[in-house]
Amino acid sequence: MIRASSLYRYRLCPGSLALEAKCPELPPSEDASAGALQHAVLSGTADMKLLTSEQRAAVQWCHADTELLIERTFGEVRPKIFCEIEMDLDGFISGHPDFIAVHKDTAIVLDRKFGRNEVDPAEINDQIRAYSLMTQETFGVEYVLGGIQQPHASLDSRRSLTMYGPKELSEAKIDLKTVHNEAQKPDAPLNPGKEQCRYCRAKAICPAVSKWESSIVKLDLSLIPMEHAAELYVQADVLGKRSAEVKQIIYNMVQNAQAENRPTPGFELKPGIPKRQVESAQAAFDALRSLCPDLKDEVFARLFTECCSVGIGALDSLVARAKNLSEGNAKKLVTGALKEAGCLSYTKPQASLKLVKEEKAAA
Ligand code: SF4
Repeated sequence: MIRASSLYRYRLCPGSLALEAKCPELPPSEDASAGALQHAVLSGTADMKLLTSEQRAAVQWCHADTELLIERTFGEVRPKIFCEIEMDLDGFISGHPDFIAVHKDTAIVLDRKFGRNEVDPAEINDQIRAYSLMTQETFGVEYVLGGIQQPHASLDSRRSLTMYGPKELSEAKIDLKTVHNEAQKPDAPLNPGKEQCRYCRAKAICPAVSKWESSIVKLDLSLIPMEHAAELYVQADVLGKRSAEVKQIIYNMVQNAQAENRPTPGFELKPGIPKRQVESAQAAFDALRSLCPDLKDEVFARLFTECCSVGIGALDSLVARAKNLSEGNAKKLVTGALKEAGCLSYTKPQASLKLVKEEKAAA
């Protein structure tokens, strides 16, 4: 069975299914572990206290947004709720949606993304289409409201929704079956690109990516033609991630070898040093105030606040919750209030490179 979360990659690069099966599982990155913890808090299997204030704000936003969707979809009725249940679609696609709410012939299915990279909106997102189909078949509903919540995305794309009825669901099933069948073929092609290669474990052994490497090594950097710059940019980006994965695999090998007392020629593992972090600014203020009795209150308060950084997005969420406002209106209010208080400044914006249509860039 293929995973719903990888469907989009199989659509773009059908050959990645077989190639990835030859690669070892990598341990989750720091971001992935942080995301898993936030999912666990939302599903009720981990304590909110384990989260940083920014993560807490993200989780609380998801929770409040979900309640809003439930109310708009089902009114006063409380639907049955299911979190992270493993499901499959006719035995060919599997997955576990983060959240499902069901009442009579209608369901909501949600996927939460805690990363900074914005994903495709719900109406064109293969993972949500698969989850909606699984929900329809598992619970026998006719209508599924599929949604993606991305608390760290820009305001416009923080939540996207799409409604599937019987016709759309049967079309989606045919389409996803085709993606599945193409990926199963022994001669399924490899088609490298920014989106499909980003999370593919096969980068380290992929012949299509290796071809890019040999052409980049031979490149005269003083003569990059502008018409090929976007294509080369994508290749360099994928190769950079491949190098990072090779380093991670070697790190794991050394760690395992040390644990088993095997030699690790050329390496030693230095023990890590735990980083200190303050859990509560208020408690830290009180504790340190008594350590500096000679400082006047206002001097200590100024020096202390100079050491604190404020998450402005978290302030927007705080005001949104406190005043029951949308995030957009809260942002305007916070910006106005901070400007008036003379404590808001803007960093100089730096233009970032945005690739238009990857198909064109990587073709
Ligand atoms: S690294 Fe890229 S091209 Fe190679 S299998 Fe994975 S997705 Fe396909």
